[in-house]
Amino acid sequence: MDDSLEVILNKSSVSGLFGCGHRPRPAILLLKVDRQPDVFLLRIGPFDPMSAMGRDQDNPRYSFSSWASYSETRASGYIEDSIPGVGTGHQPRNVFIMWERLEPYAIAPLDPSLLKHAELVQLIKQVQADGPDLLNIVHLGDSVEGRAIHRIDFGGGPKKVLLWSQMHGDEPTHTAVLLNLINYLHRARREVLAESIRAGCTIQMIPMLNPDGAEQGTRQNAQGLDINRDARQLETPEGRILKRAVDSFQPEFAFNLHNQNPRNSISTTGQPAAVSLMVPPVDPEGSQTEQIRTAKKVVISFMRAVDCYCHACIGRYTADYMHEAFGETIQQQGAATVLVEAGGWPADRTPSLVAIHSVGLLATLESLATDAYVRLDPAGYDSMPMTIPHDSKTSNELGETHAQ
Ligand SMILES: [Zn+2]
Repeated sequence: MDDSLEVILNKSSVSGLFGCGHRPRPAILLLKVDRQPDVFLLRIGPFDPMSAMGRDQDNPRYSFSSWASYSETRASGYIEDSIPGVGTGHQPRNVFIMWERLEPYAIAPLDPSLLKHAELVQLIKQVQADGPDLLNIVHLGDSVEGRAIHRIDFGGGPKKVLLWSQMHGDEPTHTAVLLNLINYLHRARREVLAESIRAGCTIQMIPMLNPDGAEQGTRQNAQGLDINRDARQLETPEGRILKRAVDSFQPEFAFNLHNQNPRNSISTTGQPAAVSLMVPPVDPEGSQTEQIRTAKKVVISFMRAVDCYCHACIGRYTADYMHEAFGETIQQQGAATVLVEAGGWPADRTPSLVAIHSVGLLATLESLATDAYVRLDPAGYDSMPMTIPHDSKTSNELGETHAQ
């Protein structure tokens, strides 16, 4: 504890504490004081936040709440602002997850479009090898061209969560995200965060639902069909695999993971939409059911987790009812369903698009596991800025005209 500084804060002074992360210099560790939930200890380094995360080695009266890192100037400003009880109007976050925490577990190629089916299968098996009894991998069936589609199961908690990626073959970002996430959750399973998700959720993830499209870099499957317009006809083996997965699991929450046109932009800022979110309607009338309100809370969980990375680059889509899409169908089956689209982001920017969406999904899973999402106000969804699709002519050339 030499050369470190401690500041006792009350809950209101913690407000707004966690913003954008910078490289650790110095690190800040926020500890919640046992049996006094409104009292926090802010500890400012130098120390190694990696080793401090999850427990307080010096004092058992404190439990881990969060850690972040700031420039020295910024940290000094927070100390001055924080004594006593100065808030900025933002809500404190229970866990602020830094990409630096997850990065050591990132095993997907830095460019997700390079991840093809054969390597995906190899990497999944590699993850499973570290504790094969603890990670269930199920062969659900095969694509048109005979590529195996797998489901990965994690956790044993009451919240049933289904995630699938790349039903459009040329939309690879979230396959890399899911691969990195399962590697973190499985291999770092003794960490507080992973344990919390394991205890709170039963997760089933299907990475790369359209492996033939991924191989060719096409939106459609090998039949030339759009799997996300096949939820009713079920003409594609991949669509049937997803339908069976939903029917047998009956998830409470579902995540439909896509890429959008990188030229789509945010209405209020004109910036590229790095993150677009949507709650697919449950019916053509757009009924605001309790489940829809729950899905909006899930969106807000995601948005809040990534806001510090790409504040001006997060939007939501107009939710036009699409009868033949899977999002709508699964919403109707009773799962609070959310569409997540990764979009435009410079390839060399840190954190990367994969990092942003990994943090978003991990924080959202944690929010589901701990019921933190329940307290969020669904009205926040309706006040999000809109994602504006790029003009359809150019979008056609890029192969993606619609949300989903
Ligand atoms: Zn898509």
